[in-house]
Amino acid sequence: MLKGVKKFFQYCWKLQKSYILLLLVGEICQVIIVICGIIFPKYIINMLFEEQQIPKTILFIILFLISLLLCNFGQALSRYFAEKSRDQMYCKFSISYAGHILDGDYQNMENPEYMDLKEKALKCMNSYGFAGIIFLSASLVGKVLLVLSTAIVVITLDIWILLLFFCLILINIRINNYIERKNAKLGLEEVLEKRKEEYIYQLGNEVQFGKEIRVYGLCNWALKQYREQFQAVHSFTKRKNSNTCITGIVGSFVLFFQQCIIYGYLVYQVFQERLSIGAFTMYLSAVFTFYMAVTEMFKIIGKLQQPAIYFKSFEEFINYPKREAPKTKECGSALLTRMEYSIRFEHVWFCYPGQEKYTLEDISFEVKPGEHIAIIGDNGAGKSTMVKLLTRLYIPDKGKILLNGRDIWSFSLEEYRKIFAVVLQDFQLFAMTIRENIALAESGAIEESKLKQAAEAVGLMDKINSLNKGFDTPLFKVFDEGGIELSGGEAQKVALARALIKNGKIMVLDEPTAALDPRAEYRMYQDFSKLMDGKTSIFISHRLASCQICDRILVLQHGKIVESGTHKQLLAAGGYYAKLFQIQSSWYQGEVG
Ligand code: ADP
Repeated sequence: MLKGVKKFFQYCWKLQKSYILLLLVGEICQVIIVICGIIFPKYIINMLFEEQQIPKTILFIILFLISLLLCNFGQALSRYFAEKSRDQMYCKFSISYAGHILDGDYQNMENPEYMDLKEKALKCMNSYGFAGIIFLSASLVGKVLLVLSTAIVVITLDIWILLLFFCLILINIRINNYIERKNAKLGLEEVLEKRKEEYIYQLGNEVQFGKEIRVYGLCNWALKQYREQFQAVHSFTKRKNSNTCITGIVGSFVLFFQQCIIYGYLVYQVFQERLSIGAFTMYLSAVFTFYMAVTEMFKIIGKLQQPAIYFKSFEEFINYPKREAPKTKECGSALLTRMEYSIRFEHVWFCYPGQEKYTLEDISFEVKPGEHIAIIGDNGAGKSTMVKLLTRLYIPDKGKILLNGRDIWSFSLEEYRKIFAVVLQDFQLFAMTIRENIALAESGAIEESKLKQAAEAVGLMDKINSLNKGFDTPLFKVFDEGGIELSGGEAQKVALARALIKNGKIMVLDEPTAALDPRAEYRMYQDFSKLMDGKTSIFISHRLASCQICDRILVLQHGKIVESGTHKQLLAAGGYYAKLFQIQSSWYQGEVG
């Protein structure tokens, strides 16, 4: 445990030294206040009742009160500044935690081990609170000081009393610690159930599920799921509470037994005239303070065991292995200055984590600089998976993907991603303005004319002009009642405009027109083929008509490339593509007819 707390401390010390120092000052002030409260009254009582020296007593009381005032003042100030400092530390910690999540491998988002670890790491912030652990550790230092100083007072009475009390406290503490450890383990086991509970809770809370739930009448089903999951989590809480109750009962018995002993002993000493009334008061309060301080000290040690366990998870999370790029020389901005790019898949095999079957098998093809390639195939053939591999969301299990002849994993990720303009099949829009959704990180710097040009190219300008706030209209109603919902086709246009604004040198469009109406689709292909001119591009589409704007077509079936060639070549070959094309065109002709 100590190792965990020490590491935690080191971590926090690096983040915010002042928080730890201020807390320690506060603790020292607190110890002085308590010790003054034990010792001063002895002399005041003796002066009043035995020596009866009023002026001396008054002077002593004034001295006592001034020391108390100064210490209280010091404590209040240090706590005030500690809280300020804590917020700064918390902010640094949260940003570092969020940074690890955002910067982590996308693949890990589907890895239950990683997700559990992430949740456990979060407990570092949530259970006692990240700063709370430091607070506990600082109070531990305070309690140790208090135990030592009260022990010195009690030893002047009788060392055996001290030892007896210590033994009783130890018994109590051992039971306490045992229960705390059990509860900490239960806390960790509870994580998975809590994650499930949160997910089900989100079903009712998140707009994205709202339509499905209503259309399919899933309300009762969702409530049943939530109830069951709530009970699963609640059973952990129940077990933890009954454990805590046991410690409470044992503690009460031990305290009762100790009180009997100390009152009996001190009263006996006073009757024997071995103790003054002042000394009686001092020892009584010293013994109880000693008892409380030792109990608190061990309680804190017990409590720190939980965060120490959580910190282990936090450390594992922070150091969770990243899929490293092979060690080669950094290519840096040299990558960006190139005008043309070729892409080559070389015997690429890929299997999703936790799956048994390969999604892609031995994929090899090349896209020459400036070439437009279309990839077609049935649902689930593996087209989007190829995009995910190309954009480095996943890493191939076997084989390589090369950019201008170099393994894509040998480039710095940031530089690499800059050359791509990608429209994902499951693109997401954010609860921000349309401008921000199109320009994303560059929304502050983007020129209006460029924004308009992109919106024009994807046929979004009519919609923008119809809105009072134009590009500054917020999407969704999460933060603004005036927020709007876009239709599927309009949303896709925003995603396409986003890719155009980025002006990447390689365009990757995964089903870019799936939600567009035929007129918009036709227009987009015309505009896009102009905009894509000279750029290497990969196009994934179900609509074979759209493939005609591409130089070459790859046909993917069950994770393998089965045909490759130009539209004419593939039609002439009379294979899968030709059949598919025939089906689609006869469907249109039939419909028109
Ligand atoms: P396509 O784009 O050709 O429709 P995908 O590349 O999206 O197909 O999917 C190929 C196969 O991989 C499908 O069988 C799909 O179920 C599976 N798949 C996709 N994503 C994942 C994932 N994250 N985990 C496991 N299997 C996946």
